[in-house]
Amino acid sequence: MKDNFDIIIIGGGILGTSLSYFLSFLNKSKKIAVIEQEHNVAHHTSGRNTGKIHAPYLYNPEKKKLFANAAFHGYEMWEEYSKLRNLPFKKDGVIEVALEENGIKVLEKYLKWGKQNGLREKDIELMDKTELRKIEPEIKCEAALYVHRDGSTDYATLTKSLMTDSKENGIDFLLDTKVTKIEKVNNKWEITINGNHKIFTNFLINAAGGQAIDIAHNMKIAKNLTDVHFRGEYWKTPKKYHGLTKTSVYSVPEFPDYPFLDPHWIIRVDGSCEIGPNAVPVFSPYGYNNSENIRKFLPKIIEMLGSGARKAIFDKQFQELAFSEIQSSMSKSVMIERVKKFLPKINVNEITQKGTAGIRSSVINEKGKFVPDVILLEGDASFHILNYNSPGATGALPFSVHVINQLHKTGLFENEDTDAQCGPWKFNDIIQKLEE
Ligand SMILES: Cc1cc2nc3c(=O)[nH]c(=O)nc-3n(C[C@H](O)[C@H](O)[C@H](O)COP(=O)(O)OP(=O)(O)OC[C@H]3O[C@@H](n4cnc5c(N)ncnc54)[C@H](O)[C@@H]3O)c2cc1C
Repeated sequence: MKDNFDIIIIGGGILGTSLSYFLSFLNKSKKIAVIEQEHNVAHHTSGRNTGKIHAPYLYNPEKKKLFANAAFHGYEMWEEYSKLRNLPFKKDGVIEVALEENGIKVLEKYLKWGKQNGLREKDIELMDKTELRKIEPEIKCEAALYVHRDGSTDYATLTKSLMTDSKENGIDFLLDTKVTKIEKVNNKWEITINGNHKIFTNFLINAAGGQAIDIAHNMKIAKNLTDVHFRGEYWKTPKKYHGLTKTSVYSVPEFPDYPFLDPHWIIRVDGSCEIGPNAVPVFSPYGYNNSENIRKFLPKIIEMLGSGARKAIFDKQFQELAFSEIQSSMSKSVMIERVKKFLPKINVNEITQKGTAGIRSSVINEKGKFVPDVILLEGDASFHILNYNSPGATGALPFSVHVINQLHKTGLFENEDTDAQCGPWKFNDIIQKLEE
């Protein structure tokens, strides 16, 4: 009996842990576990990101409504949750700059999208360079979008707190536990953990981040999709730069199809400043160092050549971008020069300390194209969340509510209480807000 569960969530990142948080309030008598291969939650991408609570101005409301909505409501939910638990949350805003005249049109588009996605007049404003210079004299640009409703936090701390709450409500967290095989046996999923022990579940949620595709493939789902991994590296700046700007600075992406490129000037929630991330192609979702990348090089290349990714890696623009990102990984100055364009005061020679890199796993379809949005797939007694990328941490709470509601509505997994109070929020109130 001990090894039989009603639901197992694979992945103790911010998504799997947010799902466990809400499920724990809605299903008091169900047996639910989160399986995480590492010693603690948020060990990978959820604890290795930029730490921004992003306002949804970068997302076309017609194409990315769900993600934009989740980011919009995620902001207020993290603010409320952080206040309740006394966790880091700073409303410090962000500035998006256009370095060239033609970038101003992009800022105008972002302003329109931001407002369509719920931001109000006081949350976001377009400024010309003279107006901005009065507030931020060190920034060089043609125009800027000042987004006031944007914040900073430490997502690892938030995820750990959600785990504590979930555990208090009876959820098991099986840490140091790696899922190595999944098979259907007698109407249940038989999950092999750490290579030998077996546990069983009626329903499985795949929130395995950079390994979500592998888990799906193991369960014979999403065979037409594959993924490529990009390591986002950061450089820490010395204390003398900590007051250089009041706000973090992003720039209009040079390649709109690859918006995760173009490093930013980041002010972290503790006030320290960093430059990053770039996006260096690597061969594993955990390819932080050479030994892991060398180990995974051959298997990943073989898999990519047999899938749609083959087309992507032979695409000329992709090759050029990959080359310039590899250069920016090898040469600190190549990366920092990109930020120097809008913060000319930075001296490359004074920046010597690397920050903590995080890895983004982007899904590629059978045509060799990057899939721009999150992918939600229903399987046999299972649900799979693939391509859960930026601003995934910002939207994790409302997005989890959306997923749990979808499972309930489609009859895949019925909650015991459909209108429970989940900490500071009523479950149905969040759904209502998401559907507005
Ligand atoms: C460089 C970078 C910067 C970013 N900056 C921001 C930002 O500022 N704001 C924002 O909102 N978003 C940001 N994001 C995006 C955000 O961090 C992610 O969308 C989010 O963390 C994804 O969470 P997750 O839970 O899906 O994945 P993960 O955090 O990767 O969690 C998945 C977990 O599953 C576990 N797992 C996988 N396979 C197995 C297995 N077989 N057995 C057991 N456990 C397993 C892993 O160990 C991992 O802990 C950034 C991303 C990157 C890469």
